[in-house]
Formats: sequence, structure tokens, C-alpha cells
Amino acid sequence: MNIDIATLFPEMLENYLSQSVVGRAREKGIFSVKCHNIRDYTLDKHRRVDDTPYSERQGMLMQCEPVYNCYKSVTEGRKPHVIYMSPQGKNLTQQRAKELSQLDDIFILCGHYEGVDERVIEEIVDEEISIGDYVLTGGELPALVLVDSVVRMLDGTLSKADCYEDESHYNGLLEYPQYTRPEVWHDKQVPQVLLSGHHANIQKWRHEQALIATANKRPELLEKLELTAEDLAILHKYDRE
Ligand code: SAM
Repeated sequence: MNIDIATLFPEMLENYLSQSVVGRAREKGIFSVKCHNIRDYTLDKHRRVDDTPYSERQGMLMQCEPVYNCYKSVTEGRKPHVIYMSPQGKNLTQQRAKELSQLDDIFILCGHYEGVDERVIEEIVDEEISIGDYVLTGGELPALVLVDSVVRMLDGTLSKADCYEDESHYNGLLEYPQYTRPEVWHDKQVPQVLLSGHHANIQKWRHEQALIATANKRPELLEKLELTAEDLAILHKYDRE
């Protein structure tokens, strides 16, 4: 997969993209990512990329031309899927990240100031994605969130697919509780079933605990799932306890 990110602050992104899971996946050639400074594509002699909005609003807006020139120069006739990170977009979900991980070529536009002139959004953007219903200063953190969530699901990034398939949200449930050594800490014992080595019982326990964690922390997620009679019985039993 190839990812291009257009931003006014490439250095903010580079550090994160070189570290940990994402950095290793990049080193292994599982995906490539380049950050492009939109300021390099302005024709203004003072390297300005913004101007005041026509709506009598305070603040500044990113202009069409530098964004468009950056997109044209970077893509050179290719047609990537273009995403504008925006608080007005659909909220990012694990499902959407999984779908995006199937694409070969993605171009991400990070806004700044009051945002971007609507006309260049209309011209180049395929999809707006938000990372939540709040407003951040720029699209850089959202772009990193998007790239991280997508790259985790590329073949070879994690040691096995079940590393992410068992995680919260992949199948609509939250993850079951997890424990590591020591077996007892502050008088709290690791659940016995996890020490039993009995694969089927461990699987059953995990599923039950995932249901209970979801009912406890994010009950609204259960409404979107088709629960089996067995699932409903587990939740009913948990409710009574
Ligand atoms: N005036 C815009 C509005 O009310 O919709 C918000 C502009 S925001 C200060 C500047 C930039 O940050 C946006 O262009 C966008 O790229 C990014 N941004 C802010 N919040 C975001 C969010 N929740 N998800 C994705 N991107 C966001």
C-alpha cells in the first residue's frame, strides 16, 4: 500500500511514522508513506498558503491552489483514494479502517486554520473522515490515527491476524480482560481458566467476558449485533448477578 499525506507540518508526522509497529511495517516495506509539505506548492513569494474567509469569519482558510498543486504533483496522473481529515466527515470505525486497508493507494489531506476552501475539497476529495465529534487544530493527529488503524491490518504488520481480530471493535464487541504475570497481584488472582491450558474453555471464557465488557462499558454496541440465544443467556445471567 502507498500512502501520501499532504500537510503544513510534515515533521509532526514523520516521528510517529518511524516508530513502533507502524515504523517497523514501513521498514519492512509492508507499506510506504510520504509526507508532503503543502507550502512547497504555493506560488506566493512569501510561501503563504492561507487567506481570510469571505464569510466575515475570523481566522484563516487554506487556499485551493497550493493544495491542488500538491495533489497534482504528488499523484502525477495516478488516481488514489483521497481522504480529507475533517470533523465533518463520518466517524472512523474499525470496519472502515479494515476496508481502507484493502486499497493500494491513499492520499490524505490535513487541514489547518479554519479548514480548507470548499472548492478544492469538491475537486479532489473522495471521502471525509473524522476521528470524533470534537475539533482539533489540524488534520495531522487525525491522519496519524487513520494511518495507524489501517496499517495494523495490513498483512505482515502484526505477527498474526488474530492480534487484531481479537481486539475491541473488530467483531463489534470489546476485548475480554487480559492478564500477565504475576498470577497474584494485590490479592487479585488471574482467572483460573486462563491457567488451565484448556483451549476450548479459554475461548468460551473470552467470548463471555467480551460480551460482559461490552454490556458494561458500551452497551449501545450490543444493539448493532445479532446476538445468539447463548449470548443472550450469558448477558441475562450476568445481569442477575
Ligand atoms: N472550521 C472547521 C469546522 O468547524 O468544521 C474546523 C477546522 S479545524 C480547526 C482545522 C483542521 O483540523 C480541519 O481542516 C481538519 O483537517 C482537522 N480536524 C479537526 N478536527 C478533526 C476531527 N475531529 N477529525 C478529523 N480532522 C479534524
